[in-house]
Amino acid sequence: MFAYAQKESIEKRYKPLGQLGSGATAVVKKYQHRETGKDYAVKTINKKEIQEKILKREVDILLHLSHDNIIKMHDIYEGTNHLHLVLELVTGGELFDRIVKVGTYSEVVAAKAIQQILQAVQYLHGNGIIHRDLKPENLLYAHPGDDSAIKIADFGMSRMLKPDQVEMMTCCGTPGYVAPEVLLGKMYDGQVDLWAVGVILFIMLGGYEPFAGDDSSDAKIYQRIIKCEYKFDEDYWKDITLSARDVIAKMLVLEPKSRLTAGQCLDHPWVKGLGAKDEHLEKCVTKIREFNARRKLKGGIYGVIGANAMLQAIRKLAQ
Ligand code: AMP
Repeated sequence: MFAYAQKESIEKRYKPLGQLGSGATAVVKKYQHRETGKDYAVKTINKKEIQEKILKREVDILLHLSHDNIIKMHDIYEGTNHLHLVLELVTGGELFDRIVKVGTYSEVVAAKAIQQILQAVQYLHGNGIIHRDLKPENLLYAHPGDDSAIKIADFGMSRMLKPDQVEMMTCCGTPGYVAPEVLLGKMYDGQVDLWAVGVILFIMLGGYEPFAGDDSSDAKIYQRIIKCEYKFDEDYWKDITLSARDVIAKMLVLEPKSRLTAGQCLDHPWVKGLGAKDEHLEKCVTKIREFNARRKLKGGIYGVIGANAMLQAIRKLAQ
């Protein structure tokens, strides 16, 4: 299936260590290179459980990518039933877990994180790639140190546009982070990722999701998204600068062409760290801790939704 993959057993060159995690169609384990002693994360995919076209897409995209804020793929091994992707091992945990673990968290810290995410998104879009599933779970720290880079992971939903293609239509994503134009069945482009970054930054500073209430079914979330119905609740936003709210408001814009691009966001004074306040955000950390707990409880049930589920929910909205 993959001409460029190594056909020998992965265990010849890499020693399997413990399991790191699992996704919908893959198990991720730690492996050590037998010669160099270097550790890697190996994503093992059962080829029978995933369409060849979809698998090829993820692998092709990973092969193309080389950026400090994106998890790198080092090697590929292919057996009869399984494909093993040898990836850069990250050990710093998820962005939102670190926010609640470290002693102090401020707008300056948030701006530094979002800047790295935007740099990766700018690189992806410059290479004709749309991630399509940016969410807190896919933002990982390289290592536990203070100077660790953030890395974007999981390109399972990403698409590479063909050279003359500028837009696409497939309906997919994760409830809460999906852009209005996707829900409305319109043609869309990389600006869907900027919407998701806007949602992520909103949660990073407000501690709650802009389009989800306590009672929210997916259909209700979608209804709010297509109207861009959210507000900066003063109870949670009074300590946050107007500059931070300004950049969020310019990302959460219904019309994709009026939404800031990754490059424009990187030029925003708040993202550059100029307008960001360096005061500890205690209330926000408490809210993010609650958000994390809710998110992990929902786990797989609240994961990625396919085109059918999303279209059904949208039809329900129209009734
Ligand atoms: P994925 O299917 O790519 O979402 O991966 C499933 C889980 O495996 C993630 O939630 C992580 O816990 C873990 N994982 C994936 N990639 C890596 C990596 N490069 N380094 C460390 N852990 C990883």
